Amino acid sequence: DPRLKAISEAIRVVPHFPKPGIMFHDITTLLLDHVAFKDAVDIFVDRYRDMGISVVAGVEARGFMFGPSIALAIGAKFVPLRKPRKLPGEVISEAYVLEYGKDCLEMHVGAVHPGERVLVIDDLVATGGTLSAAIRLLERVGAQVVECACVVGLREYLYVLQGQHGLNEKPLYILVEPR
Ligand code: IMP
Repeated sequence: DPRLKAISEAIRVVPHFPKPGIMFHDITTLLLDHVAFKDAVDIFVDRYRDMGISVVAGVEARGFMFGPSIALAIGAKFVPLRKPRKLPGEVISEAYVLEYGKDCLEMHVGAVHPGERVLVIDDLVATGGTLSAAIRLLERVGAQVVECACVVGLREYLYVLQGQHGLNEKPLYILVEPR
């Protein structure tokens, strides 16, 4: 797809952020380029339009920057998966392990119903720990995760994550490889 090159080039890479050794992929520069931003959303929309998806679940915070546009275009609802203590209603929580320490994602009870078909979206996948927690959360309420999608996937983990058992056996779709 000829649009992917411009999308990739619009993502800024910031070395040593937020700590030494990390190459941070900054998608805020993609949002500044309205053509590349729209192309990215359009590619996701074309892919998911006819998959019977009724829920787009976005991972805080950068999944919120892509998820709602996709949800509106494919006629699905948007459900935020949030960091702890942000959602005011009754929640279910799923903990996951980070490189240093632990974190947690929460979802409002009643937001997603058993049997619903879900697309999970985030900006970037590295180890897949965050997306795995999102999948567990949705499966606990009886939903079916059709696919996980990210704008960027870090190369060193993709071979495993896109393998047969990679992401809780769910398919993973990546728009662009890192630069
Ligand atoms: P994982 O759980 O190891 O796959 O890490 C993915 C999570 O960390 C996502 O929620 C990302 O938003 C965040 N993340 C990790 N590295 C980067 C980066 O370089 N840019 C933006 N987000 C990142």
